[in-house]
Amino acid sequence: MSSRRRSKKDAASTVMPPQAPPSQYSRRERVLYVGCEGEATEYDYLRYLNKEYGSGDSETGRPAFTIKPVRKADGLIPSRAVKAVVEAAQGEDETWVLFDRDSHHDIPEAFEAAAASDTEVCFSHPSFELWLLLHFQPFGGAQGAAKNTHVLEKLRKADPAYKRFDKPDKGLDAARTKALKGKEKAAVQHARALVGQCEHGSCKPANATFEAPKYGRSAKERAARSGHAKNCEVLSRDPSTDVWRLLVSLGIVKV
Ligand SMILES: [Zn+2]
Repeated sequence: MSSRRRSKKDAASTVMPPQAPPSQYSRRERVLYVGCEGEATEYDYLRYLNKEYGSGDSETGRPAFTIKPVRKADGLIPSRAVKAVVEAAQGEDETWVLFDRDSHHDIPEAFEAAAASDTEVCFSHPSFELWLLLHFQPFGGAQGAAKNTHVLEKLRKADPAYKRFDKPDKGLDAARTKALKGKEKAAVQHARALVGQCEHGSCKPANATFEAPKYGRSAKERAARSGHAKNCEVLSRDPSTDVWRLLVSLGIVKV
């Protein structure tokens, strides 16, 4: 830079012309390794976010990002998904993980592993499909033993593209992602409303945190980043989904 040779009068205008970013900037584009359990749904959804939003938006100033989905063909239980994503990122990039309540027994361990490795968790109870459903409508009421049944029933009715959404057809093809497009803001609102409706009583979406997490936070603090109270048991957050935090973090939706 030759700024020292420029007069003060010129200084303001020298800020304006577009310049190629310094070389470290292109390497500093946000990269997120996101672990998921292995079903096609989450993997396809992450690829959709990349395709639709990954190049950023110069009008709104939304920065570019690259999500690198991490999964194994035979599936990953939550604690393994955390390990896999940490290994894949090699300490170079952010790590996130998506997992469901389902019938997993290792969810507390997964939160411990996430806290120890500075990994963001997007937990969904009963399932990731709840997040998809919230694009079309609000949802509420504990699902208990019904688990995922009502979520899937409603999702199949929510849009023709999801009419046959069931095993083995749980991928998100172009018609299914098109049906989601433009409804992200509603989905975030509906998901935040579920935090406020949590039976615990002290959970508030406004308490969600997005600042860079610091290494070594406890599992309870990690689990409270979506606005649930620290002593709100993760397994009791029925229904809930934290996937909205990923979209807000990426700048796709503002809250
Ligand atoms: Zn709660």
